[in-house]
Amino acid sequence: MNTEKMQAALLYGERDLRIGFVNKPQIDDDEVLVKIRAATTCGTDLKIFQRGYVNRVIALPTIFGHEWAGDVTEVGDDVSTMSNGMRVRAGNSAPCLRCRMCQKGRFNLCEDMLWLWGAYAEYIRVPARTILVNSQEIPENVTYEEAALAEPLACVLHGVEESDMALGDTVVIIGAGPIGLLHLLLAKRIGVEKTIMCDIAEERLIFAEKLGADATVNSSMTEPIDAIRALTNDKGADVVVEAIGLPATWKQSLKMVSKGGTVLEFGGCPPGSHIQVDAELLHYDEVTIMGTFHATPTHFKNALNLISSGTLNVKPLITKRMPLTRIKDAFTDLISSKSDLKIAIIP
Ligand SMILES: [Zn+2]
Ligand SMILES: [Zn+2]
Repeated sequence: MNTEKMQAALLYGERDLRIGFVNKPQIDDDEVLVKIRAATTCGTDLKIFQRGYVNRVIALPTIFGHEWAGDVTEVGDDVSTMSNGMRVRAGNSAPCLRCRMCQKGRFNLCEDMLWLWGAYAEYIRVPARTILVNSQEIPENVTYEEAALAEPLACVLHGVEESDMALGDTVVIIGAGPIGLLHLLLAKRIGVEKTIMCDIAEERLIFAEKLGADATVNSSMTEPIDAIRALTNDKGADVVVEAIGLPATWKQSLKMVSKGGTVLEFGGCPPGSHIQVDAELLHYDEVTIMGTFHATPTHFKNALNLISSGTLNVKPLITKRMPLTRIKDAFTDLISSKSDLKIAIIP
């Protein structure tokens, strides 16, 4: 019986996050153990911290965190694709490849998804399925914290792909947080003609401009729908991305889109949320309204490749580094500050 302990951040309830010692995970023959070298904070984790639960089935206290990268320290006898000391990242989801959704290629909607939590700790056990379908060796030129960002970037790649964002488009992004900014970086790379960022925090809009936003709208000072109309010759944008997750901004996005355009409702709203849609918008204007959720293993792989090739520079999104012992301060900072985007937690 292994009694070795590791340090981990345990969530006991709403805003009650404490550092404790738990049993270091033991691996089976088809698994690996990874020493986490960086785990980045994410809006989802922030929601979990504020609400005090991961989901209805996981019992508290629990270790959460899902964007991470590290070094393999133990390898099960049956694992041939990873070796000791290898720098790796793995996704927080591993589709089954067998269910109805997987068979249709909709891997992000897998009906038997294996989720992986527990990045805010010294070590993480990576299950066989995750090793098989959603893990990669990290190229030498990519840091651990950059590799951790493959997760949010994968989700953004999925959304942008589905939205058919194209060369020459005008794109509005509501929300200049990490997800909105990743959409901005990608839109610029695709070669859209004009990117317009909306947010209520001036600091974030200034940062968005530094990252290449062509125009910004501060929705706390200007009526955002009128402002977008004015910036698009009253036509609206080809693609509008909502990257906040509130019914109010979902509704706004519908009024910012042009004829024939697409609204990508990227941010997940609280459970039970509803919005009304003008039927004429769908019929006469042929507007597409879509949501996307999470990403497929291919998006994860492409995300890391885009970072490694230098196509997308995600470094500016990491605004701070903090040790695991200060994780509670990290989340408190994310709530109070407008300039912190992602904090890399270093165990
Ligand atoms: Zn995330
Ligand atoms: Zn499946």
